[in-house]
Amino acid sequence: MEISYNNEFKGKGHHCATFLIRCMDFRFHKALEENMEQILGESSCAFDSPGVGGGGSKSIIDEESRRVVFSALNIAMEKHGVNRVVIADHIDCGAYGGSGKFANEDEEEKFHVEKLKEAKRVLEVDYKNLEIVLIYQSWNSIKTI
Ligand SMILES: [Zn+2]
Repeated sequence: MEISYNNEFKGKGHHCATFLIRCMDFRFHKALEENMEQILGESSCAFDSPGVGGGGSKSIIDEESRRVVFSALNIAMEKHGVNRVVIADHIDCGAYGGSGKFANEDEEEKFHVEKLKEAKRVLEVDYKNLEIVLIYQSWNSIKTI
């Protein structure tokens, strides 16, 4: 099988301002991607994404996956001119034990907000000049922290 498509980026260079660090969980990708322009207040918003398993904030907090994420981020900054990182956590994330670990959705969100802030602090140690945007995605909303 061969499928034809039109790549909107053909011939337009490699510049991309945003690096998205998110969980591999497929259930949250479509909604997040469809709303990135609104979240960041930009039209035609493109982003690099390393595609690391284990959650947005967790992939930065854990030293092993951090090396992979930072390596990809370094390439994105050098080759694509990335100057903003979006760290996206989501509800019912298996990397943190899923929703069943929490008494309710408010408690789960508070946990993720703390983890996102921790990931931001870790990121800021090595990257002083990046804009960092924190996102929490529930089943029916996406909010910036
Ligand atoms: Zn997840």
